[in-house]
Amino acid sequence: MTTPDGVDAKNLFQTGGLTYDDFILLPGHIDFDVDEVSLETQFSRNIKLKLPVVSSPMDTVTESGMAIKMALLGGLGIIHSNCTIEDQVREVRRVKRFENGFITEPIVMGPDATVKDVQIFKEEHGFAGIPITEDGTLATPLIGIVTNRDFDFEKDFNKPVTEVMTPKEALVTAKVGVTLVQANEILKKSKKGKLPIVDDQFRLAFLMSRTDLRTNEDFPHASKSKDKQLLVGATVSTHAEDRERLVELVGAGLDVVVLDSAQGDSSFQVKMLEHIKSEFPNLEVVAGNVVTARQCETLIKAGADALRIGMGPGSICITQETMAVGRSQASAVYFTSNFARDHGIPVIADGGIRSIGHIAKALALGANSVMLGMLLAGTSEAPGEYFYEGGVRLKRYRGMASLEAMEQKGGGKRYYRANQRIKVAQGVSGAVVDKGSITSYLLYLMQGLRQSLQDLGTRSVKAVHTQLQNGELRFEARSPAAQAEGNVHSLHSYQEPKFSMR
Ligand code: GDP
Ligand code: GDP
Ligand code: 5GP
Repeated sequence: MTTPDGVDAKNLFQTGGLTYDDFILLPGHIDFDVDEVSLETQFSRNIKLKLPVVSSPMDTVTESGMAIKMALLGGLGIIHSNCTIEDQVREVRRVKRFENGFITEPIVMGPDATVKDVQIFKEEHGFAGIPITEDGTLATPLIGIVTNRDFDFEKDFNKPVTEVMTPKEALVTAKVGVTLVQANEILKKSKKGKLPIVDDQFRLAFLMSRTDLRTNEDFPHASKSKDKQLLVGATVSTHAEDRERLVELVGAGLDVVVLDSAQGDSSFQVKMLEHIKSEFPNLEVVAGNVVTARQCETLIKAGADALRIGMGPGSICITQETMAVGRSQASAVYFTSNFARDHGIPVIADGGIRSIGHIAKALALGANSVMLGMLLAGTSEAPGEYFYEGGVRLKRYRGMASLEAMEQKGGGKRYYRANQRIKVAQGVSGAVVDKGSITSYLLYLMQGLRQSLQDLGTRSVKAVHTQLQNGELRFEARSPAAQAEGNVHSLHSYQEPKFSMR
């Protein structure tokens, strides 16, 4: 037996605080195909995911659009709480009510809308198939539907939609309860662009679009609860008034609550955890954020089902500079996961992840999943509109403790007590480039991750954790020169295409 190269994790972390770029993983032996690598993981005590990725509860990252896609693809989205209770509950409900192929809560208009209103709407939102109801809400019966073809030659923009729409007598509709397969058949046969699905009183429950039927995507790995609804998480603060928020969220079908606190080791969090565990024993609770074993101990004792790890590594974050408290992220992940594993509690590496390599390193250090903010910001599923700066298409991305975000209604609770008058920013506000849809972007990240695990000679997240523990996984510290060598260097110029899809 040859002497093993490098060092094991225990030795690596003996000196000072390290983060992802400070070390490299040494390769293992490959005797399996990349497609055999399983990314399945334990997200919390009772929830397993097919992909070890979670979208961050930030108002420029996760609302229902992101959470639906994350769950469809096999990950999980955590809806932020930088908004009113009603807004957050609506977002959670949208995820729980989502049915693949059915447009839940479709946009409708009332009889007083004009052709111009529909045209303006189309320019902003990209579609013009709009059902018309008696009062312009989903609470009253459907009276017709207007689509592109009804007004594309119309000269009189002020004409009411009722004069151009196809009236209800002429509509092909289906009844609530119809299955996706049946509805697709009706839509195919009708040769129409839309299929309204109505209840007994002819109120619109769902809409189906022919476009979606054509591009019908299958999501065999979707994260679902026992009742076949998509899984969703949401944050609440540890403030007593958020107990009311939680009651509403649970009413909407919430699966996981994340206690949103920058420094999770507090009596406020312990009280909230104990309260939740006694009121909602079936709700999974992610506690945090923490970075030391001692902090983990407090929260595990109070009943946490998973721990969120990270204090200050985020791309938009200035906590470590401002507060001088926190921990280098690789050390935080290694030491906390080491402790939590002995208690059967999974950990989530939150913040500072800039690449596929960082995801692989977080998992190799014991994390069960990673939480992504910056990497998912700028995708079409992230909240916010695109804008151009210097010819580059961008979307906003901001820290939840940036002054801008804290001024939002309900904002800043993660970082402050409600009555605090002077707010010290712990985050910044900026922009990131357009990354397209996460459908392809996440596939790229996950395929890269499979390749990384294959290079390590490991077939699953679980296997890499075993290798970490038994010392088979070998590490080496990287000097600044080694880090420079590991990046592109010595070129006059280059382009960086991240992936191509066939
Ligand atoms: P339209 O004929 O102009 O309405 O456009 P398409 O049906 O071709 O495309 C509309 C796209 O937007 C589809 O992928 C829909 O699933 C999606 N969509 C999301 N929300 C809504 C909504 O409220 N109404 C409609 N009509 N489409 C929506
Ligand atoms: P477009 O291709 O995006 O303009 O839209 P559609 O194929 O949906 O619509 C074509 C025509 O059919 C328009 O006059 C619509 O108002 C009408 N239409 C849309 N949906 C229905 C429906 O469910 N039943 C019937 N009978 N007509 C519809
Ligand atoms: P990123 O993926 O951008 O590196 O990090 C995202 C994580 O940063 C979030 O999940 C959250 O834990 C943390 N975070 C979000 N906003 C702020 C902020 O304003 N200040 C600090 N200190 N951390 C933040």
